[in-house]
Amino acid sequence: MARKPLIAGNWKMNMLSADGTALAKGVATEVKKLGKPECEFLVCPPFTLLSQVKKALRGAKVALGAQDVHFNLKGAHTGDISPLMLKDLGCTYVIVGHSERRADHKESNELVCKKAQAAIENGLKAVICIGETLEERDAGKTIDVCTKQILGSVPENATAANTVIAYEPVWAIGTGKTPTAADVEDVHAAIRKVVAKKLGKGNANKMRILYGGSVKPGNAKELLALPDVDGALIGGASLKVEDFMGIASKACVK
Ligand code: PEP
Repeated sequence: MARKPLIAGNWKMNMLSADGTALAKGVATEVKKLGKPECEFLVCPPFTLLSQVKKALRGAKVALGAQDVHFNLKGAHTGDISPLMLKDLGCTYVIVGHSERRADHKESNELVCKKAQAAIENGLKAVICIGETLEERDAGKTIDVCTKQILGSVPENATAANTVIAYEPVWAIGTGKTPTAADVEDVHAAIRKVVAKKLGKGNANKMRILYGGSVKPGNAKELLALPDVDGALIGGASLKVEDFMGIASKACVK
């Protein structure tokens, strides 16, 4: 089953105008050089830079995504951003359920599911993040936790065309640590089975499951070559053009 790898950058709460524009322009320039890239590219800057980054990416095959979204379309939700607002800015993707939001903002599976559903209903693709903490991993609960998160956070309207799952072990994010390649493949294969139960085999076979957590140019080749790994969600290394593109250069069509 050919799944085109997705190389996605999560800039988190980093970059002001000048640096963010320079980074986006740098990525755009490198992606243009690839001509017909073998993978899809996505960058998810903070809300404040979406408009500028959209302009900086002009003419390059790089999608624009946000890092969060509200499930309502408008109204009394101070500080929140709606799916329509994201579309208005040129976003085609949005990350939901990142572990930093699950932890810092106490986001539940139910809330993540509502956000993903609203995003999809309004024509955005949802990148739904899941992953276990170190305690859960040490207790042998990785697959259980991921299963519950998928069942609870992936909405009924999810399909392979509108949804990407990102498996991000919480203990691997920003730490320089990664699971072994064998562990990553085991979890991804288990995730695909749960997706098959929930959304059918057709969706499961086509749905992209990204790995995220300390992906670097040095470990990308091994991770991206795994049969059930369909790209990467990249935090720290997405803030440097060379690192982001270095990771992308290891992606291959499966
Ligand atoms: C992330 O937070 O999505 C992430 C994968 O971060 P890092 O690559 O820095 O571990």
